[in-house]
Amino acid sequence: MLSLHDFAKKWEFDPAPLDPVAARYPFRLNPYFEGLIQSRGDAIWNQVVPDAGELSDQSGFEDPLSEERLSPAPNLVHRYPNRVLWLVNDRCALHCRFCTRKRRWTGRPAPEGPSDLKPALDYIAAREQIVDVLLSGGDPLLLAEERLHQILSKLREIKHLQIIRIGSRVPCALPGAVTPRLAAMLSSFHPLYLNIHFNHPLEITAESARACSILANAGIPLGSQTVLLRGVNDSETILAELFHKLLSIRVRPYYLMQMDLTAGTAHFRTPVSTGLRVLRLLRNRISGPAMPHFVIDLPGGRGKIPLLPNMIREINDKEMIVENYTGEFCLYPLLEGEKDALKAEMAER
Ligand SMILES: *Cc1c(COP(=O)(O)O)cnc(C)c1O
Repeated sequence: MLSLHDFAKKWEFDPAPLDPVAARYPFRLNPYFEGLIQSRGDAIWNQVVPDAGELSDQSGFEDPLSEERLSPAPNLVHRYPNRVLWLVNDRCALHCRFCTRKRRWTGRPAPEGPSDLKPALDYIAAREQIVDVLLSGGDPLLLAEERLHQILSKLREIKHLQIIRIGSRVPCALPGAVTPRLAAMLSSFHPLYLNIHFNHPLEITAESARACSILANAGIPLGSQTVLLRGVNDSETILAELFHKLLSIRVRPYYLMQMDLTAGTAHFRTPVSTGLRVLRLLRNRISGPAMPHFVIDLPGGRGKIPLLPNMIREINDKEMIVENYTGEFCLYPLLEGEKDALKAEMAER
């Protein structure tokens, strides 16, 4: 790990103005990811270097998704009926400055003993409706392999639990940590899915491609979650390149996420229209499987809502007029009497 002062020396800037920011929200960066920075203020830099705006932001919430309120057991978040989110680690390979869980950057050690796992496991085991668990954190793939194995084994003892998903930035942020041995261990717990966090085409390197290849070769379906970030990736050309490159390394783009309303992250937030514009411009221009869902994770833990650009321009008794991907207006015939139901479905519901 690099200290902020070593990093500042290398990049020849004065770190003093950033010291108060790093005191509140610690700086964390590893040499691999630092090596992806091409110039000061670029898309990699902006993701990891503290910004004075983090302390002046008055708009956000410490816990925008109300994860603490929705937590029935330590580190467990239960929002939707059939699935739970389990934060099994507090550490990451680096600190993304836009992190939705900045409040948890406490530096306290990750829980270690089996007893720490028991309340969450008991909660899941007692509820048959829970069929899907998402492991996140922090980064589950940074746990000691035995610890992760222990967690996965305990989950697999719960008969009604069908699907295990892991959210990780390791294949992107510290790809050397992905080994065939780790992939083989994970593959003994299928059906197991891995969602990787990639934000910019510069993150797709020979090393991250190799990490994804190891995992995909172990039969682990790979998805990616990208956060839409001002000054990092808020353009259709950057995202088109990212999503296409992801597909080419066998990672299927899953979510493009609107920035959460997290305190200390306002400088990253884009207008909602940016995400909609990107979807509209990319649809049909890049391969279908390279298109993610654009979602807003609503404040207060009210769930993720998908948003789609509205391509319907007009609805009348006989037809609707839609705009296709080239901007051409096209007619599509409606069934008799369909108009009101369609209108209600589109807007007035
Ligand atoms: C995002 C999230 C999930 C999973 O949502 P999917 O749409 O199934 O990927 C589950 N629980 C919580 C608390 C979440 O934030």
